[in-house]
Order: sequence, then structure tokens, then C-alpha cells
Amino acid sequence: MKPKKTNAPYVSSRFSPAYLKKAHDATFAHESVIRASEHCVCFYCGHSFKPNEEAKLSWIAERPPRERTLRCPMCAIDCVIGSASSFPIDDPEFVLACSEAWFGGISRISDGKPVEKLSYVHLILD
Ligand SMILES: [Zn+2]
Repeated sequence: MKPKKTNAPYVSSRFSPAYLKKAHDATFAHESVIRASEHCVCFYCGHSFKPNEEAKLSWIAERPPRERTLRCPMCAIDCVIGSASSFPIDDPEFVLACSEAWFGGISRISDGKPVEKLSYVHLILD
């Protein structure tokens, strides 16, 4: 993982900016890919889930003929990638590199805050 307390975004030597941009595109208008995916990962909070086992999925309508975009069931941010996208979503370095590239070091993943903590806080607020 990246060293603590640096403001520069984490840059992975394994994933080029162009590749990360392509991955970002895969978080948008991707309903058919999500539905074909065995599992998905949120690149903001790190939540991993199986789309076909979720009771309710929240979709954002895009301008036709684009497909809908999925929101993360945990944090509601629209940066979910499915396993059917062919991106290495189970690789922690890939997840971190994407999160850093897209959110400029401002995300739950960059902060090293586990998703369990997020849901715990949510339960308290309820
Ligand atoms: Zn999330």
C-alpha cells in the first residue's frame, strides 16, 4: 500500500493512465456488463458485492441509447466495475490505482478506511 501522509496521488507502475481511464469508462453506462458479472467492486469505498444477489440495485438513467449506470449499494457513488469488464478488479493495486487516479487521493480506499467501518457508522446514524 502507499506510504502514509503524502499528498501526491499514488501512481502504479503496472497500470498506465490510459488504462485507468479505460477502466473509468467501464464504470459508466454498463448495465449489461454488470448483469453479466459474478461480482463487482466499488472504487470509492472498496465494497465488493454480487449484483445478482443484491435485493435492490440503484441505477442512474443515462441518455439513450446508453445503458444505465449502477450506484454502489454501500456508498451510492457511481464508480462500480463488474468482473465481466475484464479489468483486474480483484487486484488491490489496481483498485488503489483507480481510486487514486479518479478521486485524487480522496476516497475511502485512499484513506485506508475499511468498508465495514462505513456500514458501522451508517447503522449508528439509523
Ligand atoms: Zn462504494
